[in-house]
Amino acid sequence: MTEVSVAKEEVAATGDLVVLKSVNKHFGALHVLQDIDLTIARGEVVVVIGPSGSGKSTLCRTINRLETIDSGSITIDGKPLPHEGKELARLRADVGMVFQSFNLFAHKTVLENVTLGQVKVRKKDKKAAEERARALLDRVGVGAQAEKYPAQLSGGQQQRVAIARALAMEPKVMLFDEPTSALDPEMINEVLEVMQQLARDGMTMIVVTHEMGFARSAANRVVFMADGRVVEQASPDQFFSNPRSDRAKDFLSKIL
Ligand code: ADP
Ligand code: MG
Repeated sequence: MTEVSVAKEEVAATGDLVVLKSVNKHFGALHVLQDIDLTIARGEVVVVIGPSGSGKSTLCRTINRLETIDSGSITIDGKPLPHEGKELARLRADVGMVFQSFNLFAHKTVLENVTLGQVKVRKKDKKAAEERARALLDRVGVGAQAEKYPAQLSGGQQQRVAIARALAMEPKVMLFDEPTSALDPEMINEVLEVMQQLARDGMTMIVVTHEMGFARSAANRVVFMADGRVVEQASPDQFFSNPRSDRAKDFLSKIL
């Protein structure tokens, strides 16, 4: 993989990057996020796991303001999340997000997918943006696909393009919401390897995944959610070998 500087400042700097304090969120009568307190340090890789419906996706979506919160606060790099306009577009660039479904622009080439946001939001000139896009596409192993359209790529390739597109914006933190769960099994590893490399390079990452191998090898911390609450947080070693809560024990007994 080609070396591209993505997260230098994240490696160099220290301190808390993403801070959630007493965050609450309802969908009608459903209290989907309940008093969430969560702090993610610069360069930290946090894996979020928990049963379906526990609020993991909603948690991710509040951090780049795809969902609003009812009470509490979320800050990134010490600043509260903006509400609208250009500030919001910049936030979405600062907080790269990779979803289960690949969400590429179907009518744009791979190269255009990775170039557009750089020009529109980061105000780069087209040539510099394309150069960075090609370097990132090489880095995630799809450089040869640059002129193709998403539908011509495999799911694993599309997901790697989605990662490159987020990285092109020079995000401060990357959110991954079950990035491999829609992939055919033989494509899961190629995506996890890109994420592993990103983690090693010092990117701050919040990763919702059921890939426990990834959690064990890449995560600094596991956050276990159930029923809209953070029930338990621990190092992967401690969490997998010695979960403290009954909810976590029960969950692990079903998936391991
Ligand atoms: P997870 O990602 O852990 O499976 P989600 O955050 O997707 O959980 O969902 C948590 C709960 O909130 C679920 O009960 C889900 O049905 C509900 N939910 C999610 N999004 C919405 C929405 N936009 N409107 C109403 N309910 C929602
Ligand atoms: Mg989810």
